[in-house]
Amino acid sequence: MLDFTAISPHIRIKISPKAKRLALRLDGSKRHINLVIPPKASLQKAYEFAQINHLWIKNKIDELPPAIPYINGITIPIMGINRTLRIIREGKITQIELTDTELVVISPIEDPSPRIGRYLRNLALQKLGELARIKASQINRKLSKFSVRDTKSRWGSCSIDGRMTLSWRLIFAPISSIDYVISHEVAHLIHPNHGEDFWILCQNLSIDFPTGYNWMKKNGASLARYGEIPL
Ligand SMILES: [Zn+2]
Repeated sequence: MLDFTAISPHIRIKISPKAKRLALRLDGSKRHINLVIPPKASLQKAYEFAQINHLWIKNKIDELPPAIPYINGITIPIMGINRTLRIIREGKITQIELTDTELVVISPIEDPSPRIGRYLRNLALQKLGELARIKASQINRKLSKFSVRDTKSRWGSCSIDGRMTLSWRLIFAPISSIDYVISHEVAHLIHPNHGEDFWILCQNLSIDFPTGYNWMKKNGASLARYGEIPL
């Protein structure tokens, strides 16, 4: 039995029918390196491939911003306001409440991280959805569907018929960035491309385009570091 975790605890094996060759791909939000293996390749070859590239794997993981798991006392920015996570182990059911300064979690569960994750995702669905609908109405458009995902490569998408998806992790971003990403997706309700007219509309819709845009460009990847981090 080959122990891939001996090379790096971050390696995950992905046997892919579509893959033509062995490849290593970073999944920053999960802090995984996926080792993609074509169906016909041998596991031994894949193991050697990962071994040869162990430094690349280590560097990629080291370059990621440090993880911030949901533990008592940490600070989490939620919708532009820093809140202290307070976990109180008591009661029979899990209760979560967001105040102006804290995210209070009262729970009998030893590690309520998955519950906190679910709570924040629902909060994102509600708060980001609200903002997106208001912004769409400014250009006389309506969203036909709004959903949130844990998207890895993009912060949102929007089709001309009004189906918008945003990464729920945007709730950890500053308001100017949340506003920029929503303005960007709303602008796609009129312009399905990234042409000049699209950017003019996007900037007009944004409350502070340069701040929001630049922060996302520089710090967007850091939004993935909150929460349940495997390892
Ligand atoms: Zn776009």
